[in-house]
Amino acid sequence: MGETETALGVALEQLRIAAEKLNLDPGIHEMLKHPKRSLIVSITIQMDDDDVCVFTGCRVQHNDARGPFKGGIRYHPNVTLDEVTALAMWMTWKCAVANIPYGGAKGGVCCNPKEMSKCELEMLTRRYTSLLLDFIGPYRDVPAPDVYTDAQTMAWIMDTYSQFRGYSVPECVTGKPISVGGSEGRAEATSRGVVICSREAAEHLGLKMKGATVAVQGYGNVGGNTAKIAYDLGSKIIAVSDSRGGIYSQDGLNPHKVYEHKSKTGSVIDFPESKNIANEELLELKCDILIPAALENQITKANADKIKAKIVAEGANGPTTPEADKVLHEKDIFLVPDILANSAGVTVSYFEWVQNLTREHWTLEEVNRKLEDRIVKAFNDVYKVAKKEESDMRTAALILGVGRVSEAIKILGLWP
Ligand code: NAD
Repeated sequence: MGETETALGVALEQLRIAAEKLNLDPGIHEMLKHPKRSLIVSITIQMDDDDVCVFTGCRVQHNDARGPFKGGIRYHPNVTLDEVTALAMWMTWKCAVANIPYGGAKGGVCCNPKEMSKCELEMLTRRYTSLLLDFIGPYRDVPAPDVYTDAQTMAWIMDTYSQFRGYSVPECVTGKPISVGGSEGRAEATSRGVVICSREAAEHLGLKMKGATVAVQGYGNVGGNTAKIAYDLGSKIIAVSDSRGGIYSQDGLNPHKVYEHKSKTGSVIDFPESKNIANEELLELKCDILIPAALENQITKANADKIKAKIVAEGANGPTTPEADKVLHEKDIFLVPDILANSAGVTVSYFEWVQNLTREHWTLEEVNRKLEDRIVKAFNDVYKVAKKEESDMRTAALILGVGRVSEAIKILGLWP
């Protein structure tokens, strides 16, 4: 059997599996294969050297039966419409699994942010926002950060949107800096959820986070914070990596120091008292918990058989192909799927939106307490379906997410 190689191929195959298990109405299945709206924009900006450049961007709104569209914006040279469509579809299932009142969307701009100045990134973000103006908004579609976008990017989106409306609209975007309406705990929320899910999975295997060996692929927002939170709970972080390569230490790395090193040098590689390793090696290390937190398509048919972790908790979206899923399941590896494992990011985004709409500001303690309750509930909901259906956790999460969305579609009907 060939491998499902593209992110959209993976997303459609996952939907097919869920549809089959749910005995889904063929009309609803067909509807869910397609995004409700895809917008492609050409973003023209003046670069620092006065050259005029045109970047292609998009916003894909997959489904809003359960609430306004919600999803991150990615800046990356390999962004394609198909990839963003897959990511939008995963957002729909994720919001349903987390049981928050949102649909799914995603945005992307094909650019290389590492080669752009702050001023160029600001111009790109503001122009992109102006082109999306009629399609986003607090009750329509609420963007958030994703790969190579951050709180500053979200502040530019908020400001551009607000300038056009004529008044401040903090609830039009989440993941903002705290000083302009961001939520306490949002920056590290996704990672906190990855760690909570890893802890819950570990309990089922009779393991503890304290003393567990952990390898993390990707050292950005999700990977870096996951390593720090797990380390602070007593886990031993034996390896981490970024786009330039990985580092390994059997004695364990201090991720706070690795973060300082990456801030100074631009990469985790060459960290003192560690050995440089290739990204592929990191995935195949013997460890208790493996956390892919970079990009899609990392655990495939080619390497699934070599994965030695007891738990794989997906910080990234779509890191494992359906073919690899089967291999991991056969090897009795406890996989916590992306639409559950990284759903804490959108959950705290939802908290941020609620705080903005009510003009309140919750304490970090309050945010983390509510988050813990919601993630443990989502984990248990998925675990119960997995037991009932005798399935792996991915299939169970898809059954739950796709099932909740299709129920909403049925109730709303087709009009106009
Ligand atoms: P980020 O831009 O902060 O970090 C990405 C990291 O991945 C960087 O360290 C980069 O060097 C590394 N990377 C890139 N290519 C790599 C490769 N081939 N091998 C190893 N490392 C590589 O992005 P992020 O926000 O941390 O997002 C990471 C993943 O988590 C993405 O799949 C994203 O969709 C997902 N996610 C993010 C959030 C969020 O709140 N930021 C929420 C849910 C899911």
